[in-house]
Amino acid sequence: MNGPYLNFRELQLHEHEGKDYQIMASCNWHRVLIIAPHGGKIEYFSSQICKWIAGEDFAWYSFEGITNGDNRRLHITSHNFDEPRVLQALQEAYTVVTIHGLKNSSDEFLMIGGLDSAFGTDLQIALQNHGFIVKESEQGYRGERTTNICNRGCTGKGVQLEISFALRKRIFADAECRTRFIDTIRSLIKARMFKE
Ligand SMILES: [Zn+2]
Repeated sequence: MNGPYLNFRELQLHEHEGKDYQIMASCNWHRVLIIAPHGGKIEYFSSQICKWIAGEDFAWYSFEGITNGDNRRLHITSHNFDEPRVLQALQEAYTVVTIHGLKNSSDEFLMIGGLDSAFGTDLQIALQNHGFIVKESEQGYRGERTTNICNRGCTGKGVQLEISFALRKRIFADAECRTRFIDTIRSLIKARMFKE
């Protein structure tokens, strides 16, 4: 589902900030940064999930499609996503988690990618223990390129969550599921910070 733009500069030449897209972020940056690069109407509910995971204590960044037209054109593929504000935030980020949406609207599951495979495995185990289905990442969803936005923090490796539409909808609408999902991820991030 790649849009026509190779990078942010190209997008910026053709789209209007405030009308077609908007950039939302926490007031302060933090060593933990949660990113929704395809937020708003591009990958529905990914912005909300990003902000919930960040809560009041971590930093978050959300690039949001808000056009009344086709929002898919605002999708800059993850390894080319180079909007300057998020690149700046990444310079201070040790733990990076990006939130994405998969189209699947019938099955509730997620796939975990990114170069931080140790953190990815911890997340997989924790989420599975809390009743979520984590599938093997398919080709194209592994987030293994060094320029993938999830791998551009201080450590050069991060994690990306590709969440099916069915599960995003459930997290959005079902408070119990939301708390279980968000708290599982937040607890793990906090445990990692404590170990650093
Ligand atoms: Zn995405």
